[in-house]
Amino acid sequence: MNDVMIIGTVALDTIETPFGKVERALGGSATYASYAASFFSKPAIVSVVGRDFPGEYLELIKSRNIDTKGIQVEGKTFHWDGYYEFDMNQAKTKKTELNSLADFKVRVPDSYKKIKNVFLANIDPAHQLEILSQMEKPELIVLDTMNFWISSKRDALMKIIGMADIFVLNDGEARQLFETSNLVKAAKDALALGPKAVIIKKGEHGALLFENDKHFSAPGYPLEVIKDPTGCGDCFGGAIIGYLSKAGKSDHSTLRKAIIYGSVVASYNAEDFSLNRLKTLTNSDIDKRYREFEDMREF
Ligand code: AMP
Repeated sequence: MNDVMIIGTVALDTIETPFGKVERALGGSATYASYAASFFSKPAIVSVVGRDFPGEYLELIKSRNIDTKGIQVEGKTFHWDGYYEFDMNQAKTKKTELNSLADFKVRVPDSYKKIKNVFLANIDPAHQLEILSQMEKPELIVLDTMNFWISSKRDALMKIIGMADIFVLNDGEARQLFETSNLVKAAKDALALGPKAVIIKKGEHGALLFENDKHFSAPGYPLEVIKDPTGCGDCFGGAIIGYLSKAGKSDHSTLRKAIIYGSVVASYNAEDFSLNRLKTLTNSDIDKRYREFEDMREF
């Protein structure tokens, strides 16, 4: 039985970084998030791809026991074309081709409807709202988003933030959404909308967790090889919901551990393009780096 449901994009990505370029590689927020979650739990995806989506990409997703029956096939696949300069914390978008995402009608398969943990990965907030209306009684809702939707669908986004238990966003998005340069203020504004926890990702510099009366700051992992940070945010969110589902709770101390697992999977993902590093990742790699994080924090 699946225990995590993820809605997001399953995409073709064209990406250039100072260390190389890939064209129409496998990407998308739901792809990265479900792959990361699969190290801890049994995820199921709701998304749409086009008829041009390569069968081998779908096979790679399925190879992690991820349920793909909620992926519809329609028209052409969503395509993101982006690049990074030497500051790889900031993705720059050249082109976003929504393609089949533009007419996507969210349909949750019956077998997903009772799933208790829902990750609303980065996708149109209208789709995030729609999927919640089709789920029976989710117990934990984690939400992610991106500058593209903050600019284009702000009202729907504000509504969905109020329905989420945990809101994950990066520092640039927090500043843009709450129109402040101060991340503590942005987190307070986000908490005031309803979530019990807000997690602000700071790229290679780690992440901050805010609850009403508690805070936590996770360090970044000192990575020597960073080729492509695409999907790190999605891996972070996917590993978090996967771990919380496995733990069966989301109290402050479990959230701290989840954030470290999120940081671990994201750090591995940055070592290569597309899902190339994740393909060979094992649970023992994850545990090894988790212990390194524990050592880093001792003083
Ligand atoms: P991140 O974790 O933020 O690096 O997410 C990277 C992934 O987001 C890429 O694989 C893209 O396919 C996907 N993406 C890019 N733009 C959007 C968008 N507007 N909505 C949803 N997913 C997107």
